[in-house]
Amino acid sequence: MMELLWLLLPVAAASGWWAARRAEVKRSRAALRRADYFKGLNYLIDEQPDQAIEVFTRMADVDRDTAEVHLALGNLFRRRGEVDRAIHIHGSLIARPTLTADKRRRAMLELGEDYLRAGLLDRAEALFRELLDQPAHTRTALSRLIYIFQQEKDWRQAIAYSDRLERISDEYRGRQSAHFCCELAEEASSAGEGDAHVKAWLQDALIRDPGCTRANLLLGQLAMRAGDYQTAIVAFQAVERQDQGYFPEVIAPLSECYDALGRLDGWIAHLREVQQRDHGGRITDALADWLLRQEGEAAALRFLEQELRDYPTLLGLRRLVEIKLARGEGVAYTELQVLHGISTQLLNGAARYRCDNCGFIVKSMHWCCPSCQQWSAIKPIPDWVLRASA
Ligand SMILES: [Zn+2]
Repeated sequence: MMELLWLLLPVAAASGWWAARRAEVKRSRAALRRADYFKGLNYLIDEQPDQAIEVFTRMADVDRDTAEVHLALGNLFRRRGEVDRAIHIHGSLIARPTLTADKRRRAMLELGEDYLRAGLLDRAEALFRELLDQPAHTRTALSRLIYIFQQEKDWRQAIAYSDRLERISDEYRGRQSAHFCCELAEEASSAGEGDAHVKAWLQDALIRDPGCTRANLLLGQLAMRAGDYQTAIVAFQAVERQDQGYFPEVIAPLSECYDALGRLDGWIAHLREVQQRDHGGRITDALADWLLRQEGEAAALRFLEQELRDYPTLLGLRRLVEIKLARGEGVAYTELQVLHGISTQLLNGAARYRCDNCGFIVKSMHWCCPSCQQWSAIKPIPDWVLRASA
């Protein structure tokens, strides 16, 4: 028996050494992994995504069970525009049977973002709907669903989810949902659903956002179509009261309404009033046009020459040239024609609207900025000289 014990002693010693060695290897691997992790994080903080991807890919190859590394790696691929790889990584993560419920939900959220980025809206919608009942993710899921319904022009759903988000977050969403109502009003109008229906959506918009200029603009257009110019004037004037920056948008319809009612004196008086605070090209142009019609060429030229000296605008300059050209052949007729052609060319290529939020400039009016997706952020450019568009 004693002999056997003596024989087993080296085996026990060897097994102890081997266990200790294993623990040491494990510890050093964990330390290396930690070091790599922080290295990857540092690259992220320094905004060096390529180096971070390299580190995280190495880690993911070595340790296939680390969900955090795969989540980070997937996000990096998405940020770099490699959406297919991001989808593959997040999708594989979700398929793992050993993944905790919390990590699975996070991976679902990230996969939803990947699908959004790839434009696969139906797949993204399905994932975000699944996350709606998870308190930690409800707000994000709701805001992404609202974005999806906006892209799909499903305005009723967008309103319903916007209201739900407002209820749970106490975050004011009225400005956005008022636009959804305006979209529905425009759809109802195009479908010939009747003015009462269209008006109901616009009134809903104004309840949600009393500052919704678009709703009043549409109410004015609705009244004009019905031949009710007085009501239309009230609606267009409300646009001006809500936000003076949108006044250039109502110049043409207001002018038409005042003309239809034979109240041009009142309109010119109003334009003169606005012109005291706003020397934008569209106001100068409109005022010169009506002065020409009402008071004649001399009054219009006098106004333009004085105004353009202090506040030069391309629109004003073109109007001045036009009035001078209308006098007929003269000494500088050909030169004026050239000048008129150049200013028209410049105006045709000019951007007339700019986003207050991100600075994006466009030629035509958009209620939702195509760049930053903000509603009511794009406004007529108040510059005296219109800028060239991108
Ligand atoms: Zn913008």
